[in-house]
Amino acid sequence: MSEYVAYCVKCKQKREMKNVQVTTNEKGRRQAKGTCPQCGTKMNLFLKSDK
Ligand SMILES: [Zn+2]
Repeated sequence: MSEYVAYCVKCKQKREMKNVQVTTNEKGRRQAKGTCPQCGTKMNLFLKSDK
């Protein structure tokens, strides 16, 4: 399973995000944004840092 699994508030289930875009904020925190493969709701996930 990919690391881009987030909770979809609409499906009320964990889903693997589609169209994932990873961004890093000013604090160096990595965040993944994507959409739910089932309903298309936008999803958001904070990732563990690599270091
Ligand atoms: Zn969904």
